[in-house]
Order: sequence, then C-alpha cells, then structure tokens
Amino acid sequence: MRIACPMCKTVIADAPDDFPSRPFCSARCKLLDLGNWLDGVYRVSEPLDDTAEQVGEVDTQDSAAKSPEKPAGERSRGPQHN
Ligand SMILES: [Zn+2]
Repeated sequence: MRIACPMCKTVIADAPDDFPSRPFCSARCKLLDLGNWLDGVYRVSEPLDDTAEQVGEVDTQDSAAKSPEKPAGERSRGPQHN
C-alpha cells in the first residue's frame, strides 16, 4: 500500500499492509505527531471567546458589565429605518 506521511510528507510507494508506523513513514514521525497533538490539546483547553459569547446571551446582567462593546440598543436601530 501507499503511505504519504502527514508529518514529513515522505511517500512510501510500496509499504506493507502491516506497516507499523502508518500513516506515518517511521516511528519517529509518529512520535513527533503525538507530541504536536498533546501540545495542541493543552493549548485548546484554554477558554475561547466563542464560548464566552454564548454564555453572555443567557446571563445578560453579568455579560453587560464584562463586555460593554456590544450595547443592546444597537440591534433595534437597523439600517432600514430611514
Ligand atoms: Zn515521516
């Protein structure tokens, strides 16, 4: 089978079906990918702005004090009102 390593882009045209490191070209690339993955998990675990906004929709009192950049009055004042 053909293996295209997602880590170093090495292509192995005739790798055996039971190639131990697939889809990587070698055990080294497999470990490198695992390291990147763990690194990414730690970074993603930090809170994102998207979730904060969703919470703000429900908890209006608290979010109004925390994010004053979105006043509620601006929604009712549409561009069609002329
Ligand atoms: Zn590789």
